[in-house]
Amino acid sequence: MSHAYGPVPSRRFGRSIGVSPIPPKTCSYSCVYCQLGKTTDMRAERGRFFDPKEIEKDIENTVTSCGCKADFITIVGDGEPTLSANIGELISFCKSHLKIPVAIITNGSLLWNAELQLQLRVADVVSVTVSAGDEETFRKIHRPHGSLKFSEVMSGMETFRKSYQGKFWAEVMLVAGLNDSNESIVSIKKQLQRLSPDKVFIATPTRPPTEPWVKPPDPESVLNAASILGGSLEMTFPEMGSFNPGEHEDVADTILQLCSRHPMMEKQVRELEARLGTEVADRMADENVVQWKEYMGIRYLLPVRK
Ligand code: SF4
Repeated sequence: MSHAYGPVPSRRFGRSIGVSPIPPKTCSYSCVYCQLGKTTDMRAERGRFFDPKEIEKDIENTVTSCGCKADFITIVGDGEPTLSANIGELISFCKSHLKIPVAIITNGSLLWNAELQLQLRVADVVSVTVSAGDEETFRKIHRPHGSLKFSEVMSGMETFRKSYQGKFWAEVMLVAGLNDSNESIVSIKKQLQRLSPDKVFIATPTRPPTEPWVKPPDPESVLNAASILGGSLEMTFPEMGSFNPGEHEDVADTILQLCSRHPMMEKQVRELEARLGTEVADRMADENVVQWKEYMGIRYLLPVRK
């Protein structure tokens, strides 16, 4: 499987090439709302998972084959990308060799690490997750690795933020009953004030979550959170863009790769099939390779994890 995919249309990054420098579901958290399923390799120690040259080759091939100018390369991972000790080399490669801006989408749990702070310094955007304002909520929502403490994670983000010159964003994922009360939002706001993010994004679980009981807050609670958090705030809505298959020859494999990384709305799957002049998703579902799952009135295509 390639380490790079796309371009994926994104409201925040335009046409972006996604890069995963770690094995699937390798993460320091196991968030209840994660769209990738339960974390299977829980760790807080960084490591070298792949040869960086192999990842660079995949990025270069994807950039070349997409036939358009990518606006961003987002290092996002099928888990927590900063667990990759090679992330600094990858950022440098994308910026100096490919001349494309780089965004790191991270849960922020390892930003206390001095080596990582140095590696991320040259990224154009670093986007962290701040969905809890206290230890108890932090544990309930993220189910972090045992060595990670809320206060240390937040101090790490604050230390990084103070020296980081690029754009620093924060995402608040709201889950009904877990962190959407007035009290929770006020405590999240206090943490955000320590970080002075350039932008804050409010998100809700719009794709099938790991835990079936996870639900988005009602619209009133989301609006209440928006009014308390204020500032440079944007709401994240279910993605409505289309995926670009690039130049993959095997359509079934392309669909499997795409939906393994981003559960695809049925509309996106049908558009892709129409563009490629073939219908394979339903056959793949019959063969138990992928599955349709309905969430919030929308059908999504997901891989069957065996
Ligand atoms: S949402 Fe992100 S941080 Fe949370 S478990 Fe999934 S990959 Fe890890």
